[in-house]
Amino acid sequence: MLRIIQNIFYLNEQSRFQRAAQAFLLGICAPLGWLGITHVLQLKVVDPLYEVALYSYITVGSIFVMVGFALCISKSEEHFARMSLLDPLTSLYNSRYLLTRADQEFAHLERTGQNMALLMADIDHFKYVNDKYGHSVGDIVLQQIAHIMQTTARKTDIVARVGGEEFALLLPDSTTDGAMRLAERIRDRIEHTPIVLPDGRTLNVKISLGVSSTEEFSPQIFNELYESADNALYRAKRDGRNRVVKAVETDPLTSEVAC
Ligand code: GH3
Ligand code: MG
Ligand code: MG
Repeated sequence: MLRIIQNIFYLNEQSRFQRAAQAFLLGICAPLGWLGITHVLQLKVVDPLYEVALYSYITVGSIFVMVGFALCISKSEEHFARMSLLDPLTSLYNSRYLLTRADQEFAHLERTGQNMALLMADIDHFKYVNDKYGHSVGDIVLQQIAHIMQTTARKTDIVARVGGEEFALLLPDSTTDGAMRLAERIRDRIEHTPIVLPDGRTLNVKISLGVSSTEEFSPQIFNELYESADNALYRAKRDGRNRVVKAVETDPLTSEVAC
């Protein structure tokens, strides 16, 4: 029913003036509908049932129209709210969602005493892929890498694209060892899964990951966890790429990177 109403009025992507015109049409239809009913039922103003029928028509009609409109509009609101949290290319979460969820999970940790881990990942030599095969192939690579990450992580993990070819995985309730194992599984799957291009060619890419966990040290805010995972990723790149590096509490890079 909702779909029929939506199809009739195209409520999803209309300008505000088209919406107003639709509402105007519905408004005009109401008295016309009443005229039709009185004609079919041969109702006259003097009939004892006239008022009962009129008030029933107004009540049922306005409930029907209001509820229909509310359902259509709230469906498109939900759609746009969801879109604002997703990366359009990969359909992973975006940084906005990651940071909001991370703050919530972080606050939750203090109450439960659980641990949380963060993986930062960056595709190796991705610029070369773009330069050699073109930007559209680069986009396909990003989508397939995103798919591998999403399907390797647990359902409760939050997988986000946080930059061009950078990803973050937030693992609520995870130990450092668990996070390292997941990072290594992702690295290994990406290394050994050929990316299939639309013309049948295949190519392989590799990825570097940095892993940080609240089990190893105690960040005061989520940003500290993020920075330590990012520093570990930087070390993975510096040490040769295609590897997983664990963050250490006194990371010499903290001062190096700041410079
Ligand atoms: P490294 O191993 O050090 O990470 O090298 P890299 O080449 O992966 O890193 P660099 O930062 O030099 O290049 C990243 C490239 O990612 C450059 C940019 O054009 C590309 N890129 C960023 N966003 C997108 C996107 O949405 N689609 C495509 N196809 N490419 C993108
Ligand atoms: Mg890169
Ligand atoms: Mg990068």
